[in-house]
Amino acid sequence: MTAQHDLQLDEPFLFAEEGPAHPDDAASVLHWRCLIVDDDEGVHQSMVFAMNNLMVEGGRIEWLHAYSAREARELLARERDVALIVLDVVMEHEQAGLDLVRAIRVDLGLADTRIILHTGQPGFAPEIAAIRDYDINDYRTKSELTRNHIYTCLASAIRTYRQIRSIEASRQQLRRIIQAGNVLMSQADEATFAQGALELFSGLLQIESSGLTLLHHPGSSIAELQVVSASGEWRARTGQALTSLGEDIRNCCLRSLESRQAEWGATGVALSIPGRDGGMLVLYLDALPQARRLVDDSVLEIFVAHFSACLNNRLLLGRLHHDAFFDRLLGLPNRRCLNELVEAHYADGTQAQMTLALIDIDRFGEINEALGQTFGDALLQAMAGRLEASVQRKAMLARLSADIFAVFGPSDWVTPEQLLPLFATPLSVLDQETMVSVTIGLTRLVEVEASDGAAALEAAFQALRTAKTTQRGQLAWYSPDLSRQTHERVNLLNGLRMALRSAGLFVVYQPQIALGDRRLIGLEALVRWRTESGEPIGPDRFIPVAEQSGLIREIGFFVLREACGVLASLHREGDARLRMAVNVSAIQFRHPAFLQELKCIIADSGIDARCLELEITESIAMEDTVYVRETLDALHAMGIQLAIDDFGTGYSSLAQLKGLAVDRLKIDKAFVRDLNEADADASIAGVVIQLGRRLGKEVIAEGVETEDQAMLLGRMGCPEAQGYLFGRPMPLDELRAWIGRQPA
Ligand code: C2E
Ligand code: CA
Ligand code: CA
Repeated sequence: MTAQHDLQLDEPFLFAEEGPAHPDDAASVLHWRCLIVDDDEGVHQSMVFAMNNLMVEGGRIEWLHAYSAREARELLARERDVALIVLDVVMEHEQAGLDLVRAIRVDLGLADTRIILHTGQPGFAPEIAAIRDYDINDYRTKSELTRNHIYTCLASAIRTYRQIRSIEASRQQLRRIIQAGNVLMSQADEATFAQGALELFSGLLQIESSGLTLLHHPGSSIAELQVVSASGEWRARTGQALTSLGEDIRNCCLRSLESRQAEWGATGVALSIPGRDGGMLVLYLDALPQARRLVDDSVLEIFVAHFSACLNNRLLLGRLHHDAFFDRLLGLPNRRCLNELVEAHYADGTQAQMTLALIDIDRFGEINEALGQTFGDALLQAMAGRLEASVQRKAMLARLSADIFAVFGPSDWVTPEQLLPLFATPLSVLDQETMVSVTIGLTRLVEVEASDGAAALEAAFQALRTAKTTQRGQLAWYSPDLSRQTHERVNLLNGLRMALRSAGLFVVYQPQIALGDRRLIGLEALVRWRTESGEPIGPDRFIPVAEQSGLIREIGFFVLREACGVLASLHREGDARLRMAVNVSAIQFRHPAFLQELKCIIADSGIDARCLELEITESIAMEDTVYVRETLDALHAMGIQLAIDDFGTGYSSLAQLKGLAVDRLKIDKAFVRDLNEADADASIAGVVIQLGRRLGKEVIAEGVETEDQAMLLGRMGCPEAQGYLFGRPMPLDELRAWIGRQPA
């Protein structure tokens, strides 16, 4: 081959858009790898000299050299990312160059690499078909290769290469953007989301992720822009304000906030991702301006649009998530949140060591009503504060309803010994020292039969209900037994409800007599329940259940109405002074509508109110509240008689008893049973009898089963009695027969 490389050095030339080279940043600059394949050493030298370190497409050319087609093939099999091959058509033989091209495209599969062919002899020009088939960028004769030509020719080939690569890269980038965005969206915290976006951004620019992210909350000022995550050199800057960062970065970020697109500075790039509500996520990366060429503007636009959507969704999800799992007043996890945590323990098999405690503030409703909701809220906050201080990281604190808190944690920590002392000292509520009392229900997760959160919560609630009803030591543990009882109770209640509507519920009447002459003076109405299957269920079993559910009010009025009706007909049939005693539950008594409904029943039945006696409990009689006092007085004013049932089993205050509008004390059958001749007067029955005499109250003894008891009570001065000895509780027709058998 002759060395006919007549390169014309037509000076000077201008490469306007590329700008000067920066010798100092050589390391960080892009390199376009260019392979010269020519058996003429002079061509290699002229080519390198012609490019003279000039920048092309933001990068420098890194030269590779081969002097034969064979050598080129070997080199290309090794090297990656060769942007351009400038090759001589005629080398070892006339077809060597074209054979090499075929090998590059077909055998090596290098589709992106650009190829420029040249030849010294115009006669050896390749076929148009070859240029087309093998995707040849350019074909020149060596005589055309002036310095200017070399530059334009190489630059255009490299530009094409860059475009081809960036289209492919964009395709990958877009896929990555979509995937990463969707994954990041589910990230719980802002910092992780922001950092993920930053890393993806740096990936697009193919640079190290050294940078930071800032979050601009809607309505806040620029001065409040804060670094939420940082990496690389900036790592220590998390939490700092934008204003405390360097000028270059500050300007970059501010410009990007303004323009809402990527803004490049001398040493970095900022990209703003807008949120729907005016918030903004700003990403800042250390990057040289050259990196700009590595990512298409349209890819960046898609990046911003997609991450903006993700940001919005995340904010929305975050808020929804927060609202769904945290209670608004105290910011504590709520029932759902607790439920999930409990379930997580079941799921990973760590439930064995866990205990759930529910803490209920006693009489919170009353406190709230009496002292106002502001005070109530403050009380809850103080409660939460005290619990949180104790719980810290050892357990989870949640709020399940207005005044029920939950503590869930290891069984050796969640114990009554740990929790009860928390309420031994007063809480400071709106600067007021306030004592609160609580009731606690606990369950160990292992005790719960069904392994799920709902069952565990229900178990703890059962324990809490038990703690409240038994009022023993203000706390209770759940046990499967409890669950069985609850089941029973629920069944009982349902049956009871049905019985109220059918004839399953009825009233029996037990005679009360004067001990002196054994004449009938009154009756006590007692409710009975016979289930559909005919099984009798005693009031001792169903009254407490009815009281807990509130059903007692309906039952109570049913009995009252029946009893008043029976009394009215008995009055018509004979003794017009016969008394009717009806039991009134505390729940029924305390209900604000009690008096009104009672009046209606009396009026409807047409009885003389003076013949009606209400048996109330000692706890009601002793309750020193305005409402109870006024109700008792009102009943008294109506002429209704009042008896304290089971007297002596509670804690009566004598001082109070004296001023009370109560007519009769009823000695509980337990004291009658305990009676014996030897110390009769010193017995409780004896004391009650004397007390009645002193205070001017009537006394009646119940549960009298034997003649001895009747005689003894009579001698002790007890005027009236009731019991199996005289008559059992009877349905109306039996009672009529019983009355008929009495001596006139
Ligand atoms: P109580 O008011 O103390 O009723 C007296 C209980 O003693 C009745 O039981 C009665 O059947 C029973 N008794 C009567 N004489 C004797 C006797 O000589 N020996 C013995 N061992 N027991 C006797 P009962 O009917 O099972 O009622 C149990 C409790 O259920 C009642 O105790 C009362 O507290 C409640 N109760 C019954 N009916 C009603 C009602 O209509 N309303 C309300 N609120 N409670 C009711
Ligand atoms: Ca009674
Ligand atoms: Ca009794």
